[in-house]
Amino acid sequence: MHELSLCQSLIDQVQQLALTHGAQSVGLVTLKIGPLSGVEPALMQHAYPFASAGTLAAESTLVIELAPLQVRCESCGAETEAEPSRLVCAACGGCHTQLVSGDEMLLMSVELITAEGSNHV
Ligand SMILES: [Zn+2]
Repeated sequence: MHELSLCQSLIDQVQQLALTHGAQSVGLVTLKIGPLSGVEPALMQHAYPFASAGTLAAESTLVIELAPLQVRCESCGAETEAEPSRLVCAACGGCHTQLVSGDEMLLMSVELITAEGSNHV
């Protein structure tokens, strides 16, 4: 399963952050997923408890934010939102566009719980 291995590398990153900051556990983990990333948010949520079991992130909660799909138009230069199936400029209707965002999977923030309280990194 594709999402399980993605989840495991995500947990590796989170675990590394937690160790670096001397955290005892992890609260919220916020992930941003674009519609063209090839990652299914529901499958990530499903895989998360399996990937985090036995780690510092075992009690953490995965929050997924959906990234907008944005394109930059080569004709008029506008940056607009587009549909995954239709990468056209919303300003002029041109189809010569470049993807600005929408194919990413980014770790946005991690809530680390330490002896002093919690902080976001
Ligand atoms: Zn345009």
